[in-house]
Amino acid sequence: MSSFKDQLQREVCVYTICDSTVSVMAGMSDTADELALRAYDSTTGASYLCQLSESALLQMQSSLTDQPDWASFFLAIHNAFHSGGVSVNRVEGRPVPAAAAAFSAAGADRGSNVASSLEVQCIGGVKGKYAVFILDYTADGQQRYIMEHLVRSHATYCHPKEFEQRLARLRTEEEAARAKRDGLDRELVALNENLTRNREKLKIYLDRKAELLATLGTHSTDNTDNLWKLIKEKEQKAVDENNQSQLANPLRDRRCKDFDPLLLRMIKSLYLSPEQCDSSSPADRVVMPFSQAELAAQVGLLDDKRAALWRALGTIDSWNFRVFDIQCAMSGDDYLSLSFQPNGGSLFVTLYALFCKNDFLHRFNIDEQVALNWISAVEAGYHGNPYHNSMHAADVLQITYFIIICGGLKKRCELSDLQVFAALLAAAIHDFDHPGINNNFHIKTSSHLATLYNDRSVLENLHVSSVFELMKNPAFDLLSSFSAAERHEIRDTMIEMVLATDMGSHGKYVASLKGKMQERSTFTKPEEQVLGLAIALKMADVSNCGRPLDIYLPWGAKVSDEFYQQGDRERNRGLDCSPFMNRLEPNLAKSQIAFMTYIISPFFEQIAELLPDMRFAVGLVEENKAYWACHDDS
Ligand code: AMP
Ligand code: ZN
Repeated sequence: MSSFKDQLQREVCVYTICDSTVSVMAGMSDTADELALRAYDSTTGASYLCQLSESALLQMQSSLTDQPDWASFFLAIHNAFHSGGVSVNRVEGRPVPAAAAAFSAAGADRGSNVASSLEVQCIGGVKGKYAVFILDYTADGQQRYIMEHLVRSHATYCHPKEFEQRLARLRTEEEAARAKRDGLDRELVALNENLTRNREKLKIYLDRKAELLATLGTHSTDNTDNLWKLIKEKEQKAVDENNQSQLANPLRDRRCKDFDPLLLRMIKSLYLSPEQCDSSSPADRVVMPFSQAELAAQVGLLDDKRAALWRALGTIDSWNFRVFDIQCAMSGDDYLSLSFQPNGGSLFVTLYALFCKNDFLHRFNIDEQVALNWISAVEAGYHGNPYHNSMHAADVLQITYFIIICGGLKKRCELSDLQVFAALLAAAIHDFDHPGINNNFHIKTSSHLATLYNDRSVLENLHVSSVFELMKNPAFDLLSSFSAAERHEIRDTMIEMVLATDMGSHGKYVASLKGKMQERSTFTKPEEQVLGLAIALKMADVSNCGRPLDIYLPWGAKVSDEFYQQGDRERNRGLDCSPFMNRLEPNLAKSQIAFMTYIISPFFEQIAELLPDMRFAVGLVEENKAYWACHDDS
């Protein structure tokens, strides 16, 4: 029969966790001649210890086992630890030693619950047999580390529950690591995309630079003095030319050199005959239309791209108008190039077509040269943003026109031609100079513009004021032929309409529309007319949500692309990403459904009350919403 010490020294440490909070270990003491029980209470951070000699354990032997030998005693302890037969009971009441109070102060408020001792109960293999060990609090700060270290080195997870807990922890860690990896992968893709975009941007800038340098002739670019002098001379020459632009004006020689003169002629011919025009009139200063026979011949010669453009122009009265087809034919739908477009883009084509279709130049005696200057400068003032670019302006322009004419607003509000003209200008400029980041970004970064406009409709103020600043230059003064009163009315209407596109004021406008509709059945007072026009532009601005799916989806992708770029900028500055702008947490489906449910559907419903001919758009929004219901990307 082996002695107590022999048996003790043969036993490995046994270890268990009770209540998921207290770790208990039984094994040899440091002196190797006593049984040591150590415990660590993770809820309070307190450690407990008892060391029992052979004589102290003798009376426990019989309470734990029937066999009066140490091998059976240790086996019973071993089995209890390995089968969940160990439980603990915290004993309060006895004063906690001073060291415990010290621990309590350092222990982040946990020490107040420190038990003075723990009762560790081991159930023996035989019914009714058990032993209770009293472990006293110990201020030994190493206890916790000893326990953890031993657990790790022995890998002594005894109870199946412990394995489960450990496995669950590992699974959670694995999931978190995988999510992190996915996030990093997405960020990498975004960074690569940014890099590609910036490379393309650089290429466009370099091409543009080469083009500009070529126009400066053979002067050396090394000699900056010469270059500067040349630019100054060119500028002065431009200023000296009466009524000519101080800015680059490709139409100065009246031959529409940089625009496609053939295309302009064809567009004008769609709506006006040579008999209706007079080359000596300012309104026909640049473009004289073809006869119908000549036009038909020209149409027959169009290449595929231009033919698509031509077909799209033929649907300018339709809700299904595809601005993409016009843009692609003009300079491609690559948003980075949209701010250059030396031959004009979709905004140029659409606005010129609408001017001709409504015969605005003749009606208001507008100089065609100035009109073309204005259109091209407005188009060039749009940045190469994914969404807020000149193609968006062209789209909103056409839909505003649709709502006024086909949707019945002109009739319902008894609008004048002057008001319709002002509305088209407002739509064309409504996002002029948009930097691709929203009002909130400006406000939260205290940008110059936010300060300039006192955090109120920052961008919308910018859009209108920049264009009116441009119009101070006679070469771009589209309104010079109007009387002072008319100029005032056009300006007022444009300001009201563009400021209304601030989505921060959306609720106010919808409430105002509802209120006015409840007041009386007609909608023809001047303030009602302006409100009607503002509502039309607002609807056009978010109309992508109610367009056929093949038009809506590309716009949805573009708006989210721009949102993600803003999110990138916020992240780079250490700011929280704005809602729906974090590409690391994609949720296009959710954001689109939310936008349509809470903003678009109620808005379109209200408009349908004012303009019953627009009710079809409510149904289209529902169709687009249904698309996302089965295409979740999150
Ligand atoms: P604007 O900035 O003038 O174009 O105002 C319209 C605003 O409506 C945009 O800035 C977007 O915030 C929002 N918007 C338009 N279309 C969508 C869309 N499909 N999804 C989410 N937001 C949109
Ligand atoms: Zn817009």
